[in-house]
Amino acid sequence: LVSREGRSSGTVVPVDGGKLKIGGRKFHVMAGPCSVESQEQILSTAREVKARGATILRGGAFKPRTSPYEFQGLKEEGLEMLAAAKAETGLPIITEVLAEKDVALVARYADILQIGARNAQNFALLVAAAQTGKPILLKRGLSMRIEEWLLAAEYILNEGNPHVMLCERGIRTFETYTRNTLDLSAVAIAKQETHLPVIIDPSQGCGRADLVVALCKGAVAMGADGLIVEVHPNPAEAMSDGAQQVTPEIFGGLMKAIEPLLAAV
Ligand code: PEP
Repeated sequence: LVSREGRSSGTVVPVDGGKLKIGGRKFHVMAGPCSVESQEQILSTAREVKARGATILRGGAFKPRTSPYEFQGLKEEGLEMLAAAKAETGLPIITEVLAEKDVALVARYADILQIGARNAQNFALLVAAAQTGKPILLKRGLSMRIEEWLLAAEYILNEGNPHVMLCERGIRTFETYTRNTLDLSAVAIAKQETHLPVIIDPSQGCGRADLVVALCKGAVAMGADGLIVEVHPNPAEAMSDGAQQVTPEIFGGLMKAIEPLLAAV
């Protein structure tokens, strides 16, 4: 079902009742903090990223943290804060669903359900998320081959939900300069092999704020359909992944830096 074969055009994913479409000619940038931390934090970030051209607000309410002692997210309270930010800015919301038991709850607030890298082969979760009919952004797992990633997407389409986006977010390699190795070749391969839109996450992709702009430029040049970028009003104080989050000002520079590339591809 994910195969490009026999398809003359790529899939276009309608978001928020079709107000916005991902996978068409327009490039979309999803932006916002790694974690929703407070109403003020998500509201101010939503205003800042919207003013600089983001079309979708990201923010984690359920957080998959390596250590159980790290901030786990504000959960439903965080979802309510995202909803308030959407009500003010009009930005549709993408947020992660971590567990099958939370699918209905998260789907009440999210315009796009994010399946994270750690859950990319949690097939019961994929099926439950698919059954909501909501658009799904499927991250590539930390050690997933492209074929395995595409087969995970197949689980969603096989439930009758065609609204799937693939998201390359870096894979684990021997390299230590970056947290993960962003595999930009996966964009070209996924575009060649499938009809699904491909989104790049440069923030999780390298774990370093100073590389985010360069990776975004690379993603555009490789033909990605969009980006998901972590933006925080004060990364040094972030409750999760501060090292990879950029300020609204840097995000503004990033949006300007990709403009000429978007015009060229
Ligand atoms: C995230 O985007 O908040 C996240 C945890 O991403 P990943 O699943 O790619 O690690």
